[in-house]
Amino acid sequence: MPRPTSALVATLLFASMEARAANSVAADPLQQAPAIIGGAISDGGAMKRLAELTDGIGPRLSGSAGAAAAITWAEKRFREDGAAVHLEPVLVPHWVRGTEKAEVVSPATVAPLPLSITALGGSAGTPPGGITAPLIELHSLDELAALGEKVRGKIVLFQHTMSVAHDYGEFASLRSTGPLAAARLGAVGVLVRSLATASLRSPHTGLMKTDPSVATIPGAAVSTEDAQLLHRLLSQGPVSVHLELGCKTLPDTPSFNVVAELRGSEKPEEIVLLGAHLDSWDLAQGAVDDGAGVVMVMEALRLLAHLPTPPRRTVRAVLFMNEENGIRGALAYAKAHEDEVKHHVAALECDSGAGAPQSWSLNSGAAAVALLQPWMQPLEALSCSTVVVGDRAGTDLYPLQQLPDAPPVLELIQDGTHYFDVHHSAADTLDKVNPRELAESTAAVAWAAWSLAQMPETLPRPGVKAAAH
Ligand SMILES: [Zn+2]
Repeated sequence: MPRPTSALVATLLFASMEARAANSVAADPLQQAPAIIGGAISDGGAMKRLAELTDGIGPRLSGSAGAAAAITWAEKRFREDGAAVHLEPVLVPHWVRGTEKAEVVSPATVAPLPLSITALGGSAGTPPGGITAPLIELHSLDELAALGEKVRGKIVLFQHTMSVAHDYGEFASLRSTGPLAAARLGAVGVLVRSLATASLRSPHTGLMKTDPSVATIPGAAVSTEDAQLLHRLLSQGPVSVHLELGCKTLPDTPSFNVVAELRGSEKPEEIVLLGAHLDSWDLAQGAVDDGAGVVMVMEALRLLAHLPTPPRRTVRAVLFMNEENGIRGALAYAKAHEDEVKHHVAALECDSGAGAPQSWSLNSGAAAVALLQPWMQPLEALSCSTVVVGDRAGTDLYPLQQLPDAPPVLELIQDGTHYFDVHHSAADTLDKVNPRELAESTAAVAWAAWSLAQMPETLPRPGVKAAAH
């Protein structure tokens, strides 16, 4: 049940008074809890801004006009909010979708059986007129490897049983590396059952990796309903599918990360990084992935900019370009700021949707959790004050995490129950975002950023990660 805003602010005031009594060191910063947390809840600024980004600009795949417009928009809004903003160049992949259709051609049916498909990012197009080939159903990359050359000349259908959000990690490689593995063995195309927890015959796209040494084959996601149809048909006998994709990869295109800062008043060289990715897939508005994260970060910076005193440390917002199909923005940021990494005292990326805040994951050990935990007390009012040791991190932070002296990574754990209902599909639209939940997650991120910028000490660092994600 939603909490009335006035009651929330009263709770925050009481919590901050209690905290001041208990902890004189933290007295000052906690006084800002009503302005930061209450401000995020009562202003509704994140939702208003998300509507600008989604309804006003729309899809923002790297290299597209939408991505360019989003960069201009974010730069302007950050400046209006009082942040120092600049653009950092990055060359991004430019893949475009064309016509796309697929149909069962064998067994012959009285009426046609069109399939609801959408090309995977990075896919090659088919030759004009499309391809027709027998379908072979597989369930894992191990099964593919065991079959080897038997997939030559065939369209591989990767089938799986994803039903809840947690399953994504188990099956995502079927989409990301399955098409390349199948291409190496001579397959002529790939269909991947959508990685989705709900479907109204809506296919969910995503990146398929490519390798310059292997000719890229056409790859498409097929709706879960049609993946089941194909499974039923295959259980009765051979199935052939016609696939036609007009997608192609254009030359790399110049683009930018948007970087905005509130300069620290006492330790300006120490940086708290707040990230999100400005690009989205092309099928929809990208409201949940990652428009929500973008506006959480922007609104957090705006709330901190409007406090009577600036943060002690610098708070830097980075809207990364190209998370979805290349992480070029993240790689460019890590390279450009390599010498400065040791001055990043913490990094937090918002790329987990718009769901309600639940708790925090921090990757630099129990001592770091013990330092940060008392600062999260005002978030008890939103039931998201608990910090646990964990290694969750937004994708755009991986390049930073590979560097010596990588900063501690904090992540807000949000309710992700319905995240994969719409993820990477045409259904990722503004109406899927609950304004109250978005405001609460914004409040949590703004408060965490403030705390990291104010705490007397910095968190211990996690040490170098052994392997890239
Ligand atoms: Zn994302």
